[in-house]
Amino acid sequence: MTTEITDSAPTALIDRFGRRITYLRISVTDRCDFRCVYCVEPDQRFAPRDQLLSLEEIAQVARTFVGLGVRKVRLTGGEPLVRRNVLWLMREVASLSGLDELVITTNGARLAELAAQIRAAGVRRINISLDSLRPERFRRITRKGDLAAVLRGIDAALAAGFERIKLNAVILKHRNHDEILDLVQFAVNQGINISFIEEMPVGQIGEHDRAQVFYSSDRIRSDLRSRFQLVPTTETTGGPARYYRVPGTETRVGFISPHSHNFCSDCNRVRVTAQGRLLPCLGQEQALDLRHILREHPEDETKLSQAIRDAMQHKPKGHEFGRGADSVLLRHMNITGG
Ligand code: SAM
Ligand code: SF4
Repeated sequence: MTTEITDSAPTALIDRFGRRITYLRISVTDRCDFRCVYCVEPDQRFAPRDQLLSLEEIAQVARTFVGLGVRKVRLTGGEPLVRRNVLWLMREVASLSGLDELVITTNGARLAELAAQIRAAGVRRINISLDSLRPERFRRITRKGDLAAVLRGIDAALAAGFERIKLNAVILKHRNHDEILDLVQFAVNQGINISFIEEMPVGQIGEHDRAQVFYSSDRIRSDLRSRFQLVPTTETTGGPARYYRVPGTETRVGFISPHSHNFCSDCNRVRVTAQGRLLPCLGQEQALDLRHILREHPEDETKLSQAIRDAMQHKPKGHEFGRGADSVLLRHMNITGG
C-alpha cells in the first residue's frame, strides 16, 4: 500500500498555491561510491566537509520540519549509506513524534551489511536503484558499481522485513531501454515494486546528450504491455509518479515522468541539500541557506522554524524542465538529493 498523505493532514507549511508540504527529502551527503552517468561527472568534486551539515544539524532540521507538520522524511544523497553514523541519524529521525514514516533511497551497494540495522533503526520502506541486470552494463552506467553486491543487498533488504521495497530504474535509450521487461520480471519474481524514471536535466554532465537518450514513460509503458498487463491505480504519494498494478503479482509499477507529465500542482515536498540549502522545488535553482541560520542561532529553533515557514511562500508554481538548454540546472543530483 502506498502511504497516502491526506490533504487534511495538519501542517503549518502551506504555500501560496494552497499546497500542503508534508514530505521532506534530505540529502545526508553529496558523496557516493558510484558515479552514475546521468547523475555526476566521472571526476565529480565534492563539497568541503565543513560545508556539510553535521548529523546533529540534520536531525535538528528534521525535528523542526516535523514540528511544522511534515509527516514523511526520506534520507537520500549522494549515497546515504556512505555517511558515517548514518544509523544514529535514522534512529533520531524515526523516533520523532508526529512523523508517520522514515524512508531511504540507496544504491544498495552497502545494504548486504546494513539492511537489518537500517530496519531496526526504524526505517519502514526502502528504495534501491537498479538500472541493469547485466554486470558489465551495470558497471558502465554506474562507472563503479558491482551488480553482485547490489543483488546481495536486495536479498538482505528482503530478509530484513521492510514494509515495502521499490526498485528505481533510470531508462536511457540505447543504454538500458532493452531491459525494461527484464527489470519488471525481476521485480515480479522478488515480489517488490519498481519505478521507471525519466532522466532529468539536473546538473551539467558531459557524458551524453540528454535529448538523445531520452526514453519517455509512455514508451516504457507501451514496451511493457507486450508482456504485462498494467492496471492503473489511484494511489499517489503526492509526487510525479503514476502507478499501475500487475494483476496476479505483488508488484506495482510506477512511472516518474517530469518531462512528459507535469506533476507540480499536487506537489507536497521540499528538499534540503547536504550543505543545508532548502530547495522549495527540485526544478529551480532558488534556495534558502539553513546552515547559516543553524550556525548563527544554534540555541534558537524558532529562527529556523520561521525561516522555513517564510520559504514556503517562495515555492514556485512549477519546475522548468524541458524549456531549452538554458533551463538545465547547475547542481547535480547528488547535491539535490534524488
Ligand atoms: N545514491 C542513492 C541512489 O542512487 O539511489 C540515492 C541518491 S540518487 C541521486 C536518487 C535517485 O535519483 C536514484 O534512483 C537515481 O537513479 C536518480 N537520479 C540521479 N540522477 C538523475 C537524473 N539526472 N535524472 C533522473 N533520475 C536521476
Ligand atoms: Fe550515486 Fe545515486 Fe548519483 Fe548514482 S544516482 S552517482 S548512486 S548518488
